Amino acid sequence: MTAPTLILPERSRAIASDLRAAIGVDRVKDDYSTLTAYAVDASIYRMTPKAIVLVESEDDIAATVRYAVQRGIPLTPRAAGTNLTGSAIGSGIILDISRLNRVLELNCEERWARVQPGIVLAELNKRLARDGLLFGPDPSSGEMCKLGGMLANNSSGPHTLRYGAVKDNVAALRVCLQSGEWLDAKAYGFDDPVCADLLKAHRPLHDLRSLLQENASLILQKRPTVSKNSCGYNLFGLIDGMAQGRFDLPKLFIGSEGTLGLFSEATIRLVERPRATLTALIHFHRLEDVGDAVPKLLELSPSALEVMDANTLNLIGRAKHGIPADAAATLLIELDADGAGIDLRAQAARMTEICRRYRLTSDPVIAFDPEQREQLWKARKALYPTLYRFDPKKKPINFVDDVVVPADRISELIRYLEEFFAGQHVPVAIFGHIGNGNAHIIPLLDVNDQGDFQKMVQGYHEIHQTVLGRFGGSICGEHGDGRVRAEYVKTMFGPELYDLFVRVKQSFDPSGVLNPGIKISDRPFTDHIDYARLSKSCATCAKCNAVCPVYDVFQSEDMSSRGWFEIVTDKNYSYLNSKRVVEACLNCKSCRTACPAGVDVSQLILDRRAEHPNKMAGLIFRFHAQTAMFEQFLKLLARYQSIWDRPLMRRLLDRLTKPFMRRLAETARFSPQLVLPRLAKRHLRDRYPELIPQAGQAARSPLAYFHGCAANYFDDGVGDAVISVLRKHGVEPDLPPQRCSGTPIETYGHRVLAKEGARVNLLAMAGYDKVVTGCASCTLMLKDYPTLFAGEPEQAAAQALAKRVTHISEFVSQSPVKPAMASQQSTKCKVAYHSSCHLRAAGVTKEPRAILQGLPGVEYVEMPDADRCAGGAGTYLVKDFETSQRIVERKRRAVEQSGAEVVATSCPACMIQLRTGLQGAAEVKHVAQLLQEAYEAADRA
Ligand SMILES: Cc1cc2nc3c(=O)[nH]c(=O)nc-3n(C[C@H](O)[C@H](O)[C@H](O)COP(=O)(O)OP(=O)(O)OC[C@H]3O[C@@H](n4cnc5c(N)ncnc54)[C@H](O)[C@@H]3O)c2cc1C
Ligand code: SF4
Ligand code: SF4
Repeated sequence: MTAPTLILPERSRAIASDLRAAIGVDRVKDDYSTLTAYAVDASIYRMTPKAIVLVESEDDIAATVRYAVQRGIPLTPRAAGTNLTGSAIGSGIILDISRLNRVLELNCEERWARVQPGIVLAELNKRLARDGLLFGPDPSSGEMCKLGGMLANNSSGPHTLRYGAVKDNVAALRVCLQSGEWLDAKAYGFDDPVCADLLKAHRPLHDLRSLLQENASLILQKRPTVSKNSCGYNLFGLIDGMAQGRFDLPKLFIGSEGTLGLFSEATIRLVERPRATLTALIHFHRLEDVGDAVPKLLELSPSALEVMDANTLNLIGRAKHGIPADAAATLLIELDADGAGIDLRAQAARMTEICRRYRLTSDPVIAFDPEQREQLWKARKALYPTLYRFDPKKKPINFVDDVVVPADRISELIRYLEEFFAGQHVPVAIFGHIGNGNAHIIPLLDVNDQGDFQKMVQGYHEIHQTVLGRFGGSICGEHGDGRVRAEYVKTMFGPELYDLFVRVKQSFDPSGVLNPGIKISDRPFTDHIDYARLSKSCATCAKCNAVCPVYDVFQSEDMSSRGWFEIVTDKNYSYLNSKRVVEACLNCKSCRTACPAGVDVSQLILDRRAEHPNKMAGLIFRFHAQTAMFEQFLKLLARYQSIWDRPLMRRLLDRLTKPFMRRLAETARFSPQLVLPRLAKRHLRDRYPELIPQAGQAARSPLAYFHGCAANYFDDGVGDAVISVLRKHGVEPDLPPQRCSGTPIETYGHRVLAKEGARVNLLAMAGYDKVVTGCASCTLMLKDYPTLFAGEPEQAAAQALAKRVTHISEFVSQSPVKPAMASQQSTKCKVAYHSSCHLRAAGVTKEPRAILQGLPGVEYVEMPDADRCAGGAGTYLVKDFETSQRIVERKRRAVEQSGAEVVATSCPACMIQLRTGLQGAAEVKHVAQLLQEAYEAADRA
């Protein structure tokens, strides 16, 4: 069966306007930026849709389905778009279910939950963890993928060994059928009157039952014999149900990849979280030993057993991950302690004993601590996008990425694959869930090169054929068929069973609009390959979306980091057609910190903004650069702050400044709700004249304090605290002359102005051994000067400065002086840490936490989402106050959940944002202020 040729209306704009009329203006998009962002998922393909619907209810879903069916328009459901097969892109309507992301009901006693499909797996599990529960299936993309996609792909992951795949963990689904009617898909007893009613009401169910009854032996005969399979429709699961008198409907829809119906919710089965877990890395000298060791290790009932072959270890960088040069393969094993009284230390000893029978390149690395375990998993989970760093042209191409063979033959498979790709002279990474015999095979190819393209086509057919013929395996363990494997489904199951799949599809989707081209299609897998994108640096893995605060609140790809990469690197990009989205980024840098492929989307956006600097911002920053005049103006404002900062006056100012603000950004305003810091009547530099070196004089101290604008102009105690802390550590800092580090200036596109200030700073800071900062953004910007001056004469000086920049928390952690500390109050105070994005991007995450943990009188609590952006991002809370408040809402909930009385941070913008967003729920302080208090309390004691 070919993908139906569907006739689209002449004017595709009509689709979006029809849908807007039916569903609502704010839920339907068809502008250039949105369509570009939705043209990709994490596969090798691209298809530009005609319209996007961001559904918010079951009614929205049903209305969209009815419309698509009536007009014969392809309809593709989409969740996080992390599938590797091209199944969440399409030429018609994309129905994005991301906004349906709530846990509707949770029954802890019976261990089940009713959940909407837009929830991210990691978020779901965070919620369940509060009650000691877990949803077992765990694709490595768990930080970003959503339940809807997991259901439709029958996803699984490293822990399939223990928890099975999605199909094993779902009790019921709400499915919108092609008719627009809703089906409660459960495992009904055939003697259940509800089942009889459903069979009467829904013709496709009736057809399905007959098909199963008539073809049971064929289906059983063709059933894959390996432990995992997500290829084709799961008629095997339905036959199993029938044998027990049940019509097990979830088995049909799970793994159907949006081709039979759309889910609005699922009732999922939960398990208890293990009480403790150990993770171990074992480096084998010989690949053959891995195959031998696996059955023995399986006797320990591990919850996960993963392998990475020698090539994979080379590609991700052995030295970086501490992997011995002579390791031929590395196993990652995880063992859980559950209620059955398993002693993990004894298990670890047994495991080591088994492994010692083989030639290991070093002792197994064993971790019990969650953070260390996370580190061991880190490389494995980000493996695929990390491979994007390997070569500017040769990219990891997913086309034979998900085969399954009997677990005891995995070494043989790896040997065969290594020889195959060596013969082709193609680098390849082979890794995967060895315990299930499920191997992920990712060759690195330049598909724009004719030779490499031919190798891909040859590999596709030869490897799949070998997996089926020689190994009796499956071509698809968990990633789904999508576009990439659809061509081979018929070969996998033979024409008779394939014909049954076609009949099922035709019965549930007679008009062929539900995700055409996916699973059931004879189009070659090379159709729709995105050749342009496969020469770019982004893996489209969506890891950045998971941390992007804008995506978090809008849940729409055009407002996301991955989407922005697509938009700003698209050949049809122009500032005019994309201004809305290019200006929406906070420049928080969370995407850069998260990206395993080394892409910095925020920088690409800054590059685009630099092509169109904002005129109004330019005027402000030029005034700012006239330091003496600007500071006089601020002092004037400070003197009268008690008058203009009153609620009534702030409302008036909000109105009066609107026309001026609009020239900064459409959304900009001076909101009366914004809790402003007190402006200093005497600036920091006025208060510490003794620390200011005289003009023309050499540095008086080996250490300079780069206070930046906020600590100088705000009367918030931060600058004083940093100086006081430095003094306690025996250092009298210099306050050399300085200009704004440049972060806000660059954010508005004024790179030339930012460089002007940066040159002043480079010169002023040149004579110091250390440049201490208190502000997260200044820290990062100073460290980033080498990028600002890339290829320019100042680059060497910028690199030298970057090495000497030290955040105050780093300074304190490294200082040999340990001043006495005491608590100010008699009872313990609960303190949480909000980790500012720019400090995280500068690599400073542990030091502030360690300081807080060491403070007397402080009970440190790690709050949920501590590492997420709070939405302040410099001037963003002026540029788009409404969005910034939507972002901080999550932080407010996290603080509330942690029970913290004080939230510590290290960024002035975060402090303003937290004070505005928390509305007094907790006090907000700089880490240096808490240190200062502890030192001073010791002085008084
Ligand atoms: C780095 C990386 C690692 C990965 N590791 C794994 C792994 O270990 N195991 C694994 O199984 N997969 C893995 N994947 C693949 C992918 O992440 C999973 O298949 C994931 O479950 C897809 O979820 P999603 O939310 O991104 O879905 P999408 O990609 O948005 O959609 C997937 C399919 O679901 C359909 N769909 C989405 N929502 C609905 C709905 N409400 N109703 C009906 N159909 C719907 C779509 O049409 C599409 O066919 C990985 C991907 C990446 C990028
Ligand atoms: S920018 Fe990085 S994290 Fe984001 S989609 Fe691309 S590769 Fe993944
Ligand atoms: S800088 Fe922040 S807001 Fe901008 S794309 Fe990256 S994560 Fe999103």
